[in-house]
Amino acid sequence: MTRTLSGVGVTPLSGLGTVRWYRPDGGPDLDAIQADDPDIEHERFERAREQADEELHAERERTAKVVGEDEAEIFDAHRQFLSDPQITDAVEAAIDSGQAAEVAVDSAFGDAIDQFEGMEGRMAERADDLRDLRDRLLRLLSGGERIDLAELPAGTAVLAERLTPSDTAQLDPDRIAGFATATGGRTSHAAIFARSLGIPAIVGVGEALFEVEDGVEVAVDAENDTLVVGPDEETRERVSEKRDVEIRRERVETADGVEIEVAANVGTTAEIQGTVDQGADGIGLYRTEFLFLDRESPPDESEQVDTYRDALESFPEGRVVVRTLDIGGDKPVPYLDIPDEENPFLGQRGIRRSLGPDTDLFETQLRALLRASADTEGTLSIMFPLVATTDELDAALDRVDSVTEALEADGVAVDMPELGVMIETPGAVLMADALAERIDFLSIGTNDLAQYVMAAARENDAVADLHDPRHPPVLRAIRRTVEAAHDHDAWVGMCGEMAGDPDLTRLLVGLGLDELSMSAVTIPAVKAAVSETESTAARALADRALAASTKHDVIEIINTQQ
Ligand code: PEP
Ligand code: MG
Repeated sequence: MTRTLSGVGVTPLSGLGTVRWYRPDGGPDLDAIQADDPDIEHERFERAREQADEELHAERERTAKVVGEDEAEIFDAHRQFLSDPQITDAVEAAIDSGQAAEVAVDSAFGDAIDQFEGMEGRMAERADDLRDLRDRLLRLLSGGERIDLAELPAGTAVLAERLTPSDTAQLDPDRIAGFATATGGRTSHAAIFARSLGIPAIVGVGEALFEVEDGVEVAVDAENDTLVVGPDEETRERVSEKRDVEIRRERVETADGVEIEVAANVGTTAEIQGTVDQGADGIGLYRTEFLFLDRESPPDESEQVDTYRDALESFPEGRVVVRTLDIGGDKPVPYLDIPDEENPFLGQRGIRRSLGPDTDLFETQLRALLRASADTEGTLSIMFPLVATTDELDAALDRVDSVTEALEADGVAVDMPELGVMIETPGAVLMADALAERIDFLSIGTNDLAQYVMAAARENDAVADLHDPRHPPVLRAIRRTVEAAHDHDAWVGMCGEMAGDPDLTRLLVGLGLDELSMSAVTIPAVKAAVSETESTAARALADRALAASTKHDVIEIINTQQ
């Protein structure tokens, strides 16, 4: 009999496969472990740490290659924890007091996990990282076996309570039909990895998932947020067809001829070829902070010139929008003096740091961008993050002018790029007209905009329902931004996650966006959705959604007008 379970689909993909439950073993029975001599326990701990470091290094390299550099970063964070004196000292002290290495690891990590669990935002996610690392150490200490997810038979649908980043990175997108987890939300690591890898995935299915048995056939229909157990013929056909969305390399327009640029979000050079392969028209958001993370010192000007030139050369006919450094208290960078802020999302991040403590880095980055653009044919656009006032934009533009003058004095012929700002704060929405008057484009970052408009942290599962751009106030903020941009002859795009949801393409076209930028994997589905859209009907849909007073009504409107 067919049963349909609901969850959160995190990729617009679907797959048909046979269930294989992934249940990593529960770890050693700590009550049954007898401590040996402390010297021996210290040695065991040291050996487990070294092995864990080797494993993490190998997983980091593999992830950087198959998923992307920014996803690989998670393993660097695990390695940092592995040598964090606060944790290792606590383990050593527990061993000195007569505990076995396993018990010492469990209690020292337990304390650190409790501390992170009490925090907000990305810090709270660190609790998951610590759990992952603790389990790895316990497995190594107890000689437990590791389930090789990379070797699962083709056509397997993996079900699990949760998947860690290390688990997800092992999944082979060419073999796996998809996965579903009982826990997790759209921004969990497993979800982010699934998007980058292009794996059909549903998270947050809840307790009902545990009733699905090994060996049964399921359809992981992430596009419809469902896991269908024992799918009927119609579902099987629908799901198999969906896997092959046509890749369109040409630009797309709506059925009645409105051109919509469909671009890609990237964080590193390694990701760019994948976006070209998926048919991206250009890059709509280059998150440059990833060039600055996980290293001892910042990239110098010439390294940056090479990186930006690579991006421009990949899209000789498309636009490449590079966002200047968006760093803050939630992204640790060892060589920068970033204070521990009580509320990093409301602290010194984005343009605030570039105009403050990171001003030298900002100028070097601008020099590198202008030099790369002077050398190459591609079209560069520079975008400033987290702008909240016109003063910030004016100061950033002054900086561009002074860097241009200095370069010209050095004999570099600067070809002035397009300049734009991200619309991520309510302040920027309310001042969008004044911002648009000064520059060439606006790009709406719905990940941050939804969190600030709805006062709901983007990484907090408990308020995930509020952190949703389909809430009417977020839609109204988008409409207001679009109108302000068009009134001042600026183009307006969107580069938050909302832009990559093909179910929302019609609404976004109706709201008047000129460009949509997203993870590579969603580009073919969004291009298909654009060409099926009729712009007049889309505008009517947007007007109805803007008049709705609840998210529920907005969803109804979207669903009934497809
Ligand atoms: C956004 O806030 O929507 C955005 C695209 O920027 P980031 O996700 O990098 O904060
Ligand atoms: Mg943002």
